[in-house]
Amino acid sequence: MFDAPHTNTITTKKYQSFIGLEVHIHLLTKTKVFCGCRSAFGDEPNTNVCPVCLGYPGVLPALNIEAMHMGCMVAKALNCRIPEKTWFERKQYFYPDMTKNYQISQFASPLGQDGWVELEGKGIKKKIRIKECHLEEDAGKMIHTGTASLLDYNRAGVSLLEIVTEPDMETGEEAELFIQQLRRTVRYLGVCDGNMEEGSLRADANVSINLPGKGLGRKVEIKNLNSSRFVKLGLNYEIQRQGEMLDQGKTVVQETRLWNENRDETAPMRTKENAQDYRYFPEPDLPVFSPDVAFLKSVDDALVELPLKRVGRLLADYGLTEEQADLICEEKAQADYFEAAVKDAVAKGLPHRDAVGRVTNWLLSDIKHILHRDGISTAELGSFKLTPKRLTSLLVLIAKGAVSGKNGKQTMEAVITEDKDPEAIIKERGWEQITDPAKIAEVVQSVYAAEAASFTELRDATTQDNTKRVRTLTTYLVGKVLAATGGRADPKVVGEQIRGLIQGK
Ligand code: ADP
Ligand code: ZN
Ligand code: MG
Repeated sequence: MFDAPHTNTITTKKYQSFIGLEVHIHLLTKTKVFCGCRSAFGDEPNTNVCPVCLGYPGVLPALNIEAMHMGCMVAKALNCRIPEKTWFERKQYFYPDMTKNYQISQFASPLGQDGWVELEGKGIKKKIRIKECHLEEDAGKMIHTGTASLLDYNRAGVSLLEIVTEPDMETGEEAELFIQQLRRTVRYLGVCDGNMEEGSLRADANVSINLPGKGLGRKVEIKNLNSSRFVKLGLNYEIQRQGEMLDQGKTVVQETRLWNENRDETAPMRTKENAQDYRYFPEPDLPVFSPDVAFLKSVDDALVELPLKRVGRLLADYGLTEEQADLICEEKAQADYFEAAVKDAVAKGLPHRDAVGRVTNWLLSDIKHILHRDGISTAELGSFKLTPKRLTSLLVLIAKGAVSGKNGKQTMEAVITEDKDPEAIIKERGWEQITDPAKIAEVVQSVYAAEAASFTELRDATTQDNTKRVRTLTTYLVGKVLAATGGRADPKVVGEQIRGLIQGK
């Protein structure tokens, strides 16, 4: 095992590192990219197939415009230029899970070109250039059993968008952040579920090192990185490994390596082919695509405020801490929920600051806890039974003292299980808090009669300035009054009245 890079500067010369990522995302199109087959994860093997995606001779692909649309949304979100003409090429190689022996991809004029993103967070702030975004078809899946290899072509032809960065990152941490940020972005756009375990977002990482000022080194590509953490670990391992090779006067071999998550190291897989080996040529069966004004407008219309921008706006408009804003913006549905709730709470009369405080607390503690307990993801907040309107009704009732904090929490639970408004639940259960001083005085009087000895003791303790005893006895008597009202009397009013009784007599 190698040391962490920063601990061995004595033995290792300082090298400059260059990291470029190739991220593949499955687009959430209903059908595949060049045929009408259903595009879904986890279906019975070989049920979503047809002559086109199985590569039968004589069949013709047809572009799924939804895939082009989603691809262009990502391109725009990454500040890419969409060219006047974009088209497809055949990338030729043999693989058993690709029956045509070529993959339809984009090469000379991909749908998104020369973009950039701001990488921001965890003490990192830098611009990363995006080389391109191109649309292609995915291959099928091989399943290796002990004695045989099985093929599932459900994934063959699924819309895949590849996002290629320039080698502008330098550390595993930056690459990890890039993936996390991109994942959030495509989820906000609703074009990819970002599930790395299911392979809907996959990353290959390219890395080279060189002496400072000498430019790019000889790159190694790491594959099989199915989590953003592995991207970080794999890259940092590689930077270290290459540094030690150069230290020893060796040259780094240009190759593809695999990340081994059990051994925490990379191992050689194959020497890398380059573009010429693929013999790219324009796909003769698909026409050139020239996005017209209406198409470009529909792409623009489908864009949403992106996560980083939203975090910034939430910081400025709501006075949240960075951590809170980041947590809330992790999911678009959650940020939407938050903003809707604050807006509604203000409309119902809560001061802005108070509304923000209460909504934030409930969202990041009680609601979060319930979602976790019930196995609901924050992405599903849009259909949560405790809607922003219901939450704020409850918050206003609590703020007014119309329901106790404790009954408020129980009301929240009942709203969710019974799918009713909080007012209805509180009324049904008789949980309205009693704040009317006359009503509370009646109960205090009856407790006074029943607990005369304790009242006398409390009066003595008060005269003697025995604060500890005063507190104990007050708590006891307030508890008696609350018990007599089924926990509904406002404890503040009860306390005041008991003190009044003592001082008045
Ligand atoms: P290939 O033809 O091998 O696919 P590309 O030029 O398409 O290479 O680049 C693939 C990825 O590798 C890109 O993300 C790019 O930024 C990165 N890359 C290219 N050259 C280097 C290098 N010398 N060091 C680190 N990353 C590199
Ligand atoms: Zn098909
Ligand atoms: Mg390439």
